[in-house]
Amino acid sequence: MSKKKTAGIVILLVLLACLGLVSAKNAKAQRALLEKPAQTSQTPSPTPETTPTPEPTPSPTPTGPYADKPDIDITSWEYLLANAKNPIGDYAPELGTLEGQKFDKRIIDAMTDFVAAARAQGLSVCLSSGYRSYDEQNYLYQRKVAQYGEASAAKIVAPPGTSEHQTGLACDITDKYYEFKDSSLENTALYQWMSQHCQEYGFIVRYPKDKEDVTGIVYEPWHFRYVGTDAAKYIMEKGLCLEEFVALYK
Ligand SMILES: [Zn+2]
Repeated sequence: MSKKKTAGIVILLVLLACLGLVSAKNAKAQRALLEKPAQTSQTPSPTPETTPTPEPTPSPTPTGPYADKPDIDITSWEYLLANAKNPIGDYAPELGTLEGQKFDKRIIDAMTDFVAAARAQGLSVCLSSGYRSYDEQNYLYQRKVAQYGEASAAKIVAPPGTSEHQTGLACDITDKYYEFKDSSLENTALYQWMSQHCQEYGFIVRYPKDKEDVTGIVYEPWHFRYVGTDAAKYIMEKGLCLEEFVALYK
């Protein structure tokens, strides 16, 4: 063997030995890597505290039987409440006239349509009483006070400032041939039709039979009140009185 050849073999052997060492080292490192997870699993790592995900602020979803009430501004003039608990002082609307009766001029068109529709059914509509001013109501009231005394008078005639007729939004409607203002009016074809269709024109039966304890007024099948179509449809459908309807917005 020549010297050159021998040196070549020696170098080759050294290289192979080096490679063997490197690969052995690598294998060791790999084993260590593989073993590492097993080792860490033995010591329980502390469970990181879960940061609570912020719950979205719940938007107020209306619930309950009246969740579907109309989206209206209850402080608007159509919903003006006038009763013993809610006196309106000497409130006076701008007036218009229809068939000899005065009304808040903003309801003249609706009232005209309501009456015309009833007449188209062959009904003999009589507009019996519309707007009454504070002074007129006071006159009626004082006359009853003189006759029966204050306690009894207030049961017959609303004291001034508490009558709905002072809002200009109400009308007593009777049959031209049956002008009695008592509960028997409900049997007339006129009332039957008007109480079924009033809401289409923005009116309600203001003092229903079963709401006397809420309204403080006896059943008045002749007294209609304007509240606009949205509120009227809702009030008549749900069988509410105006006091109950207004209370839904408080
Ligand atoms: Zn009336």
